[in-house]
Amino acid sequence: MSARDVLLEVAYLAASVLFILGLRSLTVPARARRGMQLAALGMLVAIVGTLLHHEIVRYEWILAGLAVGAVAGYPLGVYVPMTAMPQRIAISHMFGAVAATLVGVAEFWRLGQGARVGRVEMTALGFEVLFGALTVTGSFMAFGKLQELLPSRPVTFRGQNVVSLAVFATAAALFASLVLRPENPAAFYGMVALALVFGVALVLPIGGADMPVVISLLNSYAGLASAATGFAIGNDVLIIAGALDGASGFVLSVVMSRAMNRSFTNVLFGAFGAAPATAARSAAELSVRAITPQDAAIQLAWARLVIVVPGYGMAVAQAQHQVRELAALIERNGGTVLYAIHPVAGRMPGHMNVLLAEADVPYDRLKEMEEVNDEFEHADVALVIGANDVVNPAARTDRSSPIYGMPILDVDRARQVIVLKRSMSPGFAGIENELFYRENTAMLFGDAKQSLAKVIQEIKQG
Ligand code: NDP
Repeated sequence: MSARDVLLEVAYLAASVLFILGLRSLTVPARARRGMQLAALGMLVAIVGTLLHHEIVRYEWILAGLAVGAVAGYPLGVYVPMTAMPQRIAISHMFGAVAATLVGVAEFWRLGQGARVGRVEMTALGFEVLFGALTVTGSFMAFGKLQELLPSRPVTFRGQNVVSLAVFATAAALFASLVLRPENPAAFYGMVALALVFGVALVLPIGGADMPVVISLLNSYAGLASAATGFAIGNDVLIIAGALDGASGFVLSVVMSRAMNRSFTNVLFGAFGAAPATAARSAAELSVRAITPQDAAIQLAWARLVIVVPGYGMAVAQAQHQVRELAALIERNGGTVLYAIHPVAGRMPGHMNVLLAEADVPYDRLKEMEEVNDEFEHADVALVIGANDVVNPAARTDRSSPIYGMPILDVDRARQVIVLKRSMSPGFAGIENELFYRENTAMLFGDAKQSLAKVIQEIKQG
């Protein structure tokens, strides 16, 4: 082994360790930032290490690729708002999957269109292009739905699941035939084409509300494709990074599905988030109690226990700093403020934690759903800031509701509930929320940031 090869292996080992440490740090909010930095450093070490590879004889294309990647990646990282993170992640997965698929196709082509490919190698190549290609189109569809370029409702037709399964089964059969006889370019490219079609067929019938679960599942496919690429081209760091990516994406999908009380099959084939299932009650039958910032200030200023329930609307309004400021005022008056974090509040796991951490809310005040639900009955005020589905009591009681069975935050058990939102529009699941009509609920209409600023001003003025 030459000194260059040793250096390469050391770089790959260091990168792998950094990836693992990075993931480990992400499990604790206080160390999450450090986790990202470690993982980014790991990626840099892996790239620099790869540049030492003895098979690289010319650097022009690599440098061009690095330049294009950096130019595209910087704005994606810096300018895309937090609320658009899910679609940004979807498009990143697409790029990763395009890379894995192209490497697979190039490798097949380089080895005499399969003539010099062994069976084991063909198995790895097959996995790589199959999962890579379906992730390319699947992620692109998910991006389109979240960005509202495509209809976010499930797009379905009769016999759709049968057609999708037939496409996948044909691709899998081509894969099996290739493992037996790799020298068959028609089967190889046919398999790639079918996998691309399957990616579209897989995601189109899934509603927008389930896209984050789909994205994290596609993430695990992209990880699998990268690991397979690693096997195909004999690259250890790709195998390790791909396996970490695949496993963590899969675990995340399971955690998210569980938090929504949905099975994988239900997410993938259940067409959740279909036509908005608005409650069959007319507005005239129900009335809401709207309050002013001054009313809210009176209730909050001297409350002993306030539980803040942040949701997607807090992210849209970027109201986290005002939340923190209001909490400081309540605490100065002797009250306690806790933050109830629902696992799927917002549009991605940890969305609320990240925003509240940005506003320096102490981590020990952030309470997980199971931990905080018993506290609501002791709370003077549950302050719901742009949350809707995660506090919808229909999930507990209404069997016909699409969110029935999803564990929710029991805000309705608090003495008073104050909901900050702009209108009576539904949340992401598209369903009406009976909480807003309850006797102990008051609605403070308006943008959450502006409403909170007014409440703060009222409290300060005494
Ligand atoms: P929702 O999407 O249910 O509701 C958000 C509410 O915020 C809306 O009702 C909206 O009402 C309000 N809002 C929007 N902008 C503002 C603003 N500027 N000021 C004040 N209010 C605002 O959010 P939740 O967090 O309660 O629920 C998350 C949903 O996303 C769930 O359905 C969950 O299943 C889904 N989901 C989340 C995932 C995750 O990982 N976090 C994964 C998969 C799905 P209005 O327009 O009237 O202001």
